[in-house]
Amino acid sequence: MEKSGAERRRGVVLVPYPFQGHITPMLQLASILHSKGFSIFIAHTQFNSPNPSSHPDFTFLPLSDHLTAADTSFYNLLNAHSIMNKNCKAPFEKYMGEMQEHVACIIYDSIMNFVDVVANHLNIPTIVLRTNTAAYMHSHFAVFQLLEQNLIPLPESQLEEAVPKAYPLRYKDLPLSASIEIPEVVLDFIRSYMDIRSSSAVIWNTIDMVDHEPLQKLQHHWQVPFFTIGPFHKIVPPELPTSLMEEDNSCLSWLDKQAPDSVIYVSLGSLAIINEKELTEMASGLAQSKQPFLWVLRPSLLNGSKEATEYLREDFQNKTREQGLIVKWAPQKKVLAHRAVGGFLTHCGWNSTLESICEGVPLICRPCFSDQNVNARYVTYVWRVGLELENVSERSIERAINTLMVGEEGKKLRQRAIHMKKEIEHSINSGGSSYESLNCLVDFINSLSG
Ligand code: UDP
Repeated sequence: MEKSGAERRRGVVLVPYPFQGHITPMLQLASILHSKGFSIFIAHTQFNSPNPSSHPDFTFLPLSDHLTAADTSFYNLLNAHSIMNKNCKAPFEKYMGEMQEHVACIIYDSIMNFVDVVANHLNIPTIVLRTNTAAYMHSHFAVFQLLEQNLIPLPESQLEEAVPKAYPLRYKDLPLSASIEIPEVVLDFIRSYMDIRSSSAVIWNTIDMVDHEPLQKLQHHWQVPFFTIGPFHKIVPPELPTSLMEEDNSCLSWLDKQAPDSVIYVSLGSLAIINEKELTEMASGLAQSKQPFLWVLRPSLLNGSKEATEYLREDFQNKTREQGLIVKWAPQKKVLAHRAVGGFLTHCGWNSTLESICEGVPLICRPCFSDQNVNARYVTYVWRVGLELENVSERSIERAINTLMVGEEGKKLRQRAIHMKKEIEHSINSGGSSYESLNCLVDFINSLSG
């Protein structure tokens, strides 16, 4: 049957950057827009492809990326970025050429910069999705200013100092290390990531009350409508599958046997890599804390050839069998929502941070790179719902866990986290800022389809 013009233009194409922390919010946004009546198309690389059978309501458009396993190793990510952008353009242009009559707009992760070229060519409106905070995006302006003033590399002794005009950040919280020369290729990547190109709007997976000032500052740079509609994971059905790795659900029945707020959950996300010394210090710190723990040791966590679970000595695993559980990948959102979990030792990736504060779970911050430094500073200093791990040693980990899980300071952090959780809940309910902004986004996309 022939469709009416209005129906034809209800298609939204979403293009994620193919890593867990970016795919998850893009799939969640797809689910939100689907619930508002849009038809959803996901254009995705073959590398780290989402599983189409988990999303029967969406149409998947695979893009041949020609990436090899070596291209996608952690140390090669910038290279992977340029290969993807080169190879995905032609197949994407072919799909869009065939579908353009049905497409209201394309929503993309700005790392996938080929999208803008294709969309401009075919005259399809685009919207950028930001999968991290405005505070993080804005912090890059401080880095560029330091570069212009020839102040990078800074002496190590200055890293604890506040960055002028970048409250609340210290030099050490900046997303790029200010104490070493920043390679031009990294700067090019950041410039490209910061660029919203010809986009008609920006969608944020954050909440106005947690990111208010940075959002306002960024409006001066990007003068297009902002739709601040997070936290996405609290708007979509909780069972929406977004994991690239298989979740080990056995940890939920283990958690069922633990006392309320007693378990420290430990995970460094999907990309961060640590060395064997840090792994050993973490293991000893956890054991010494005597607190029950649930520890995610994903197979690629160690920078050596061994898997982390293989590396950990058997005596640690035997000694802590009663105290804790190790899994390769957890159903994290369910874990954080479990009544037994009382704290999260995290790398402060934005999804993890958001998932934790949305459950009122206070954090111990061990940022590794990029936005994690900025998020950790906001968690510990602005929102005051977590502790900063000074260094990764057995002693500091043991101390941080005990402070968070059993100390008076931990109680205050938990109270503030619960308060923040309630405020965030308010923002997604009728009349709240994210709720209203989502309605405006739907109207905006409808207006683009003409
Ligand atoms: N995650 C998960 N199971 C795990 C560890 C992580 O499902 O065992 C999910 C987590 O819920 C989050 C995502 O992986 O949604 C990690 O994203 P984040 O932005 O926190 O960090 P990244 O992996 O991008 O560094």
